[in-house]
Amino acid sequence: MQLKYTAPRASRRVDPEYRDRVREMSSGRWFTILQTLGVSAQILTGEVATCPECGGSFKFLNTRDRGEFICREPRSSDIYGDGFALVRHLGGDLGFDDAVRAVGEALGQRELSDRAPEKRAHRAWRGTIDRWAL
Ligand SMILES: [Zn+2]
Repeated sequence: MQLKYTAPRASRRVDPEYRDRVREMSSGRWFTILQTLGVSAQILTGEVATCPECGGSFKFLNTRDRGEFICREPRSSDIYGDGFALVRHLGGDLGFDDAVRAVGEALGQRELSDRAPEKRAHRAWRGTIDRWAL
């Protein structure tokens, strides 16, 4: 299925700090996150439902508030894991980094696209302090 999020133009590794922040924030918020990404609430009831991605027997467990699920695909082995694995599965085998970005976007968290401007700003500010010190 098509998830509602903005895929990055160029694929690159997700920022580790951003990944950790998104992971921390996602705990206990999976109903909202998944619905924001366009997943129907009808498959998030905890009852067995049809997986919108593979047509398998899907169950949203959310046992530890981390979006846990299991999907029994018709022609292959079971898929299970946490909410990030679920976003990967529903996104058509989406990469982990993009799953983190999708969840982050659903949580209103933006990944800094470039850390350099921040460092430049910091250096400029330090320069100001150094001038004051003189
Ligand atoms: Zn499935």
